[in-house]
Amino acid sequence: MIDETHDAARTSWVESATGHRDFPIQNLPFGIFSTADRGPRPGVAIGDLILDLAGIASLLPNTARDALGHASLNALFGLASRDRIELRRRLSALLSDIGQRTEIEPWLHPACECTMHLPATIGDYTDFYVGIHHANNIGRQFRPDNPLLPNYKWIPIGYHGRASSVRPSGVPVTRPNGQRKAPDDAAPNFGPSRRLDYELELGVWIGQGNDLGAPIPIGEAGEHVVGLCLLNDWSARDFQAWEYQPLGPFLAKNFHTTVSPWVVTSEALAPFRLPQPARPEGDPAPLPYLLDDRDQQHGALAIELSVTLSSAAMRGAGLPPVVLSRGPASNMYWTVAQIVAHHASNGCNLNPGDLLGTGTISAPDKDGFGSLMEISRGGATPLVLPTGESRAFLGDGDELTLMGTASAAGFVSIGFGACAATILPARS
Ligand code: MN
Repeated sequence: MIDETHDAARTSWVESATGHRDFPIQNLPFGIFSTADRGPRPGVAIGDLILDLAGIASLLPNTARDALGHASLNALFGLASRDRIELRRRLSALLSDIGQRTEIEPWLHPACECTMHLPATIGDYTDFYVGIHHANNIGRQFRPDNPLLPNYKWIPIGYHGRASSVRPSGVPVTRPNGQRKAPDDAAPNFGPSRRLDYELELGVWIGQGNDLGAPIPIGEAGEHVVGLCLLNDWSARDFQAWEYQPLGPFLAKNFHTTVSPWVVTSEALAPFRLPQPARPEGDPAPLPYLLDDRDQQHGALAIELSVTLSSAAMRGAGLPPVVLSRGPASNMYWTVAQIVAHHASNGCNLNPGDLLGTGTISAPDKDGFGSLMEISRGGATPLVLPTGESRAFLGDGDELTLMGTASAAGFVSIGFGACAATILPARS
């Protein structure tokens, strides 16, 4: 639903919000932040600043005030969408009405002086595989003759990930140790991953949950999504190749997952919905429990995603990061609503603060590949960085950054903020 909070003419008295690439007043994403003098608490990003919501609680609607008195957003996520919309409209009004400035200004903090935390206590994390070009590219490397398995176009494929190792942007990733076995090795050995990779994904934050045994109908699935973030599913491709059969990813994926710390709400994303791209001729229609007309009309997202890399040597030489890929988030074979409905279709209960990953989102062309495994064709065609360094996979000291921007004609673009981390050497 589009309302006055999306109005392109609305501006904030926070000067840095006007023209901000990520956080103009039309965005108002929620997160958990701390300052040097006070611990984690809910905030909203506006321009280069963070508004402390606990500090202005007396100006907020009653329902939201109760939900905001915690060091996580789970209670806020569990609110009915009408309560979240009321909160958004109030915040938008407060930040656009110059008359409120004196009351609110003391509760604004420069974002560069704050630490961001995970927005919610994550009960469960599930990663899907809806990026069909990624599935084709990776499948071709593992199974040249048979890249997509027969179930791909019928079920949104997923696996249960590990919630305990999800971290916000900025927390370094320690290169994992594990079992590696190259195809020609007689036996596996144990050591640091030689094929450490990233995966460019969207993260889906679950709002209101469902009771165990009570599926979420596809037509209602969107109401259970409180918002999105960027997600990097760090992957050790050498461990993955050796361990993935017969039960799927395990230690190749669960050593660390990075999310952008701001939850860009479903309400903020309302102007950026697109029809789900038509399936290619000959593909099966989704089964009825995954098919909803409204979802097919509005279930895709007008979000441009990008990935940049800078090595330690590049940063030392003052060189800017290189762009590894850029592409639209519409390259998803299944919509967000479809993965939510599918997840709960057997009665599995989702809870506020659960996190779903979409799976790597690659474009059909090389400029939009969402992992190094695809860009370097399994390591065969390494990238050459401006320093002359070569990268088939990630090196120690590399910093990888995901960014995302939602745009639509007639609306102010909004973004996610960075989803970034640096690789630390493996522990011996
Ligand atoms: Mn993944």
